[in-house]
Amino acid sequence: MSKFWSPFVKDLVPYVPGEQPKLAKLVKLNTNENPYGPSPKAIAAMHAELGDSLRLYPDPNSDRLKQAVADYYGVSTVEVFVGNGSDEVLAHAFHGLFQHGKPLLFPDVTYSFYPVYCGLYGIQHEALALDEQFQIRPEDYARPNGGIIFPNPNAPTGCLLPLDAIERILQGSPDSVVLVDEAYIDFGGETAIKLVHKYPNLLVTQTLSKSRSLAGLRVGIAVGHPDLIEALERIKNSFNSYPLDRMAIVGAAAAFEDVDYFRATCQQVIDSREAVVAGLQAHGFEVLPSAANFVFARHPQRDAATLAAGLREQGVIVRHFKQARIAQFLRITIGAPEQNQALLDALGSLL
Ligand SMILES: *Cc1c(COP(=O)(O)O)cnc(C)c1O
Repeated sequence: MSKFWSPFVKDLVPYVPGEQPKLAKLVKLNTNENPYGPSPKAIAAMHAELGDSLRLYPDPNSDRLKQAVADYYGVSTVEVFVGNGSDEVLAHAFHGLFQHGKPLLFPDVTYSFYPVYCGLYGIQHEALALDEQFQIRPEDYARPNGGIIFPNPNAPTGCLLPLDAIERILQGSPDSVVLVDEAYIDFGGETAIKLVHKYPNLLVTQTLSKSRSLAGLRVGIAVGHPDLIEALERIKNSFNSYPLDRMAIVGAAAAFEDVDYFRATCQQVIDSREAVVAGLQAHGFEVLPSAANFVFARHPQRDAATLAAGLREQGVIVRHFKQARIAQFLRITIGAPEQNQALLDALGSLL
C-alpha cells in the first residue's frame, strides 16, 4: 500500500496464472498450451510482416482478422470483436455488459479470472454450485441477474454443456447477456456461435491460445449481436486503440484460414486425451469426462497437492487448485505423446 495508489487498488485480488518455468526441460502440462506449434502459414504471415511496416501503427479495427473470423463462422464482421487475448475481451465484456447493479451468475467451480474482474469493476456475483457430477444445472440460472458467464467446456473441469442446455439458460434470462467462454470448444464441443442470430443476448468468446496454439501472440475474439459488439468497441476505443499489433493481426488471420492444420492438430490432441484418460484410470484415478485439451482427475487414496509436488520433483508440472471443492483434483494438460507418457511414468513411480 502506498499513498500514491487510488484507494481501490489496495483491495484488488489479482489473478494468479499457472507457472511459466524458466527451466526448459520440464514437461509442462500446467497451462493448457498446445503441444503442436502454430500453423506454418501463420508463422509465414508473421515473417512477411516483420519489416519496415512496423514503423506504422496497425489497423485499429483489425479488419483483416475480423474478416477471417467472419468467413470461418459465416457471420458478418459487425458481429466480431477482437482483442489482446480473450482475457482482455472478457474484461471489456465485464466492464461494458455486466455492470447493472444485479449479481453476475457463474458456477462455483470455474475460471478463476471471473471473480477477479468482478473485483476490478465492482460487480457483485453469485457462484452457483455445480451438481454432484460437476455439471452446470441450467435451471439454477433462471433467477434475477445482471448477466451470466461460464466457460464451455467448463474450466477446470473440462465438462461440456450441450447447446440445448445453453438455449435453456438463454431463454431463462432474455434480458441479460449470457457470455459463453469457449476457450476449449474446438477439442470436442459444438460452438454456440451458431445460436447468435437466434439470441441477441448471447456473446461467445474464443481464444487463439489453445486450439490454434498462439498463446504467445495474445489474440481473442468475441462473436454476438452487433449491439453487444458495439459496447465492446466503445470500451476498447476508450482504453487502447491498438490492442492487436501487426504480427497478431496477420498471424491470427492466417491461423483461422489454415483449417486443415487446425483440424489435424485438434484431432491429435483429442486422440491423446483418450489415451491419457485410459492411462490415468489404469492408475486408479477418477477422471471427469473432458471435451477440452486437459483432464481433471482425482485419486481416491492420494492427496492431490502431494501428488503435484511429487510430479514436479520428477520434472512434470500440472495445475493444482486450493479451492476446497476441487482440492483433491489435478488439472493435467494434454501434451505430445512423449510428454503424456512421461506424466504416466512419473505417476506410476509415485503410486
Ligand atoms: C485460457 C483461457 C482464457 C484466456 O485465454 P487468452 O486468450 O490466452 O487470454 C479464457 N477463458 C478460459 C476459460 C481459459 O481457460
